[in-house]
Amino acid sequence: MNFRSFLGNEATARQLQESAASGRLPHAILLSGPRGAGKYSLAIALAQTLNCLDPQTFSGLPDACDLCHNCTRIAAALDLDARVAEAVEAREDLRDADRKDTRILIQIHPDVLVVPPDPPQMLVKVGQVRSLIHNVQRAPAEGKGKIYIFPTAKFMSEAANSLLKVLEEPPEYAHLLLLAENPSDQLPTIRSRCSQMRLHAVPMETLEKIIAQRHPEWPSARRTLVARLAEGAVGRAVSFDADTYLASRKDALLLLRTATAEPDHSALFHMTETYRAGAEGQQKTQDLLRSLYLLLEDMMLLQAGEPEMARNIDILPELRRLAESVSFDWIDRAVRRIADVESGMRRNLLRSLSLDALTAGLQQR
Ligand SMILES: [Zn+2]
Repeated sequence: MNFRSFLGNEATARQLQESAASGRLPHAILLSGPRGAGKYSLAIALAQTLNCLDPQTFSGLPDACDLCHNCTRIAAALDLDARVAEAVEAREDLRDADRKDTRILIQIHPDVLVVPPDPPQMLVKVGQVRSLIHNVQRAPAEGKGKIYIFPTAKFMSEAANSLLKVLEEPPEYAHLLLLAENPSDQLPTIRSRCSQMRLHAVPMETLEKIIAQRHPEWPSARRTLVARLAEGAVGRAVSFDADTYLASRKDALLLLRTATAEPDHSALFHMTETYRAGAEGQQKTQDLLRSLYLLLEDMMLLQAGEPEMARNIDILPELRRLAESVSFDWIDRAVRRIADVESGMRRNLLRSLSLDALTAGLQQR
């Protein structure tokens, strides 16, 4: 993920790239913006650019090559969920006494440290900040500066207080990036010590253009659909698995059709039988439930007279028919029943039976 491949929010990306190139990168940056706008990708692009062994240029400024040993090592942090899961698992394997003292930190390169919120509270804890303070005192291993990234800057209060000291007087080579959805969620004492930069949700038309570049073979209706489903997030738009979504949406529609009008359940049983046990079935069921939520949400929007907000615009006529055949309460109840199926899945209830029961339950109006 270099600056060249970062899409949307060009002005902020350029500002960051320029300050890195001129050696005037602020020591503390609060980078805010909605989920999916690319805050973390941009932080990684910056970390790569500062450490790249074979710097390239993009728009006349230094950019990471994305291929050298340093770039690839740092890029491993892009899959943050996987890295956090590994760190948490490693901690679980420790003896009780050691586990308490083990901080969830992702050190992907000697000079790049990612400090994620610590589960289960999902807040950055004081131990993590203390580890950072210890780490920041050592000069960079490769002499180019050290980058600390907080992917979700939510702190326990003691952690926030400890961090203030570093934000106040960071060593010359240290740069801290705090990523947050809303700058106003930060304590004023933290906010005032940071340079603020902001990313915006990428507009639908821009997303459609980006998707068209990635998938020129897609018909325009599919590009529009995916742009809407991506909710302003470039990453989600370009990696969206449209085939899987359309397959699960087809099943979700069959379920809704059966629940609202179809007296004959054979097609439904045939479909739910394909939802089997095991990890694959689990994923398939989750995709189905997610599609159901999205369809029900669109039906609510149609009932509320706001069709332009609907996401599944390629099937609006069918959704309108469905929306007209049920009440608002019915949709509301459907959403709650889906939540029941989800919690049943966590208790490992038989999936196909849960889905049949869901449909049967929805037939009572
Ligand atoms: Zn490189």
